[in-house]
Amino acid sequence: MRWSTVALLVPCAALAALGVRALAEDADRALTRLRAQAESAADSVALALQGEVAALAAGPPGSVVFRTRTDGVLVAPDWALDRRARPASRPAPDAVTAAPSEDSSSRTSTERDKDDAALLDYYDRDLLRAERVAGLDAAALRAREALNRPNSPAVAAALLTALGAIDRRAGRLTEARAAWRRLAEEHPTVRDDHGVLRALAARLMTLESAPVAASEAVTLYEDLLRDVPFAPENAYAYLTIRVAAAARTSLAAAEADPATVDRFQALEREARARWRELNFRTLWREGAAMWAASGAADGVRNFAVDDRPSWILSLGPITGDLRDGGALEADLLAARALTRPEVAAVISIGLRPMVGGEPSDERDVLAGRALPAPWPEGWRLRVAGADLEGFRAAERRKFLLGLALAIGALLLAAAAGVTTIRAVDREVLAANDREMFVAATTHELKTPLAAIKLLAELTPDPQLPADKRREFADRIGAEADRLARLVSAVLDFARLERASAAETRARFRPVDLGQTATEAANAFRPVAAHHGFAVRLETDERGPLIRGDAEALRGALLNLLDNAVKYAAAPHEILVRATVVDGRARLSVEDRGTGVAAADRLRIFLPFVRVGDELVRERPGAGLGLALVAKIAAAHGGSAAVAPREGGGSVFVMDLGPPDAGPPTAEIVVS
Ligand code: ADP
Repeated sequence: MRWSTVALLVPCAALAALGVRALAEDADRALTRLRAQAESAADSVALALQGEVAALAAGPPGSVVFRTRTDGVLVAPDWALDRRARPASRPAPDAVTAAPSEDSSSRTSTERDKDDAALLDYYDRDLLRAERVAGLDAAALRAREALNRPNSPAVAAALLTALGAIDRRAGRLTEARAAWRRLAEEHPTVRDDHGVLRALAARLMTLESAPVAASEAVTLYEDLLRDVPFAPENAYAYLTIRVAAAARTSLAAAEADPATVDRFQALEREARARWRELNFRTLWREGAAMWAASGAADGVRNFAVDDRPSWILSLGPITGDLRDGGALEADLLAARALTRPEVAAVISIGLRPMVGGEPSDERDVLAGRALPAPWPEGWRLRVAGADLEGFRAAERRKFLLGLALAIGALLLAAAAGVTTIRAVDREVLAANDREMFVAATTHELKTPLAAIKLLAELTPDPQLPADKRREFADRIGAEADRLARLVSAVLDFARLERASAAETRARFRPVDLGQTATEAANAFRPVAAHHGFAVRLETDERGPLIRGDAEALRGALLNLLDNAVKYAAAPHEILVRATVVDGRARLSVEDRGTGVAAADRLRIFLPFVRVGDELVRERPGAGLGLALVAKIAAAHGGSAAVAPREGGGSVFVMDLGPPDAGPPTAEIVVS
């Protein structure tokens, strides 16, 4: 490789290397930035979490703090303890299905139930008939009579319900409410055939049957809440909502005193807390991870509970039923944390918010923090990229694309550089050739000119004998001839040198090489004969046909024939052939001359190269003849060469490319 090429490639390679390094650094920087973001997010969240821990410990307003043992059993608040263990606010209630009957017979509860059902059916139809036949008052009377009989609690409760309904339909609201109130007080645990506690239903009906004083409504609401531990949860939910709504209506309708309003609001808070507890219990069963753990110091965890779905930030491994791990209700905590001035952001790495769930791929974890006490030992906060592997792959793709572009650019620059260097080199070589050619031509011209000048100076000398003068005149003539030959050879050469390939081809016509060889042989025959040589022609009737410059080819053949005579010790027969060899048209001249040494066989085709011994030196010539032959062959898309001839002498060959279609070669001898 040339130095100039190296000098070009080295900076290109250096630039490419710099580019690649910059790309790699860029990819690294992106990852570092991401990590830094994650670190600061982790800091923010850790800070926020600690803040929340403190807030939870202090019991934040508006939220309920549950405390559980680490085995999941609730220890606080006390009303959230197992409700069956809680002391009841009323006298011990009747058992739901095994209420002691006023009927003290030894019959089984199933038998009693059957009797009750029959009796209830009887009273139902009896009261309906009485109302239809004799009117509401008669029906109320019959109900009161029935109530005076000894009844099972279920039948008594049903009669009180019916009496209240009849009185209300009759417009006797006070009596109706009295019936329902009696029902609620005397039979708090009796259910109807839908499973609804009659006592609760009675309260609701009392409340809804007429406008009541706000304080009375609130009392009813309170009673309802006190009954809750014994109510089925759906009935409780339904009734609580209806009673609260009714109480709210009466509070709004009347000018309620502030103490009643406060009492109602406290009751509502309690009801809401119970809802949370219900939710908590449900969700606790499904997994502690749904709730925010604030530590397990003293074997107790605190949970802030809210009743909406949450993003959970997991802390440490969560296994099995999720109780072993811990979790933070991250968006709740984050939302609170964000209201603090020192917390700038809570995790958002990549496009998705990164609160909630365990990272699916450990490699995505970008930052981690061990959480200090009161967090259990070994609990960590982890910040993960949404799809760090995807991010890395994208960075890798970007890097490879950059690399490919850099290499492409380098190759392009190198190719352009090398091409330019080659072109410049060619130019320099051509300029050198031209310079050498001019120097050699000038030198060759000087020799005959110097001779002519000297002879011309000597000839006028009067003392010069006449024969000498004649000899000088002859020599002047010979030198002038030599000069003329040289000039015409130089001109021919220069013309060929100058002509572009396109110009040369423009002069091409169809040429019959057989004819060209014949013309050259015929033209040269007299000269040959003069020196005692014979010329034999071997070619087809119609020789190989090519497209070419017939005149130039004839001139080349004449040069070769001239040389055959010049460089031979003795006269002989020269053979001229126009043939096709290996699919290529060929002109050749074969002599029995001195031959060309193997070392000189390429050289002699260069301009001004003359080789050989005395014989050559005494022969006229400028060393341009074979250079012309080579150029003409090249212009025809071929080449010129010399080879030793079998039996002595040389074979000079011009290969001229594939011929146009013509007849096959047959040897015809014309001599
Ligand atoms: P010139 O004949 O003017 O010297 P050429 O280019 O025709 O120049 O030939 C170059 C050299 O090649 C000659 O000087 C001679 O040494 C050698 N040469 C050319 N033709 C023959 C030949 N037929 N036999 C032997 N040597 C030859």
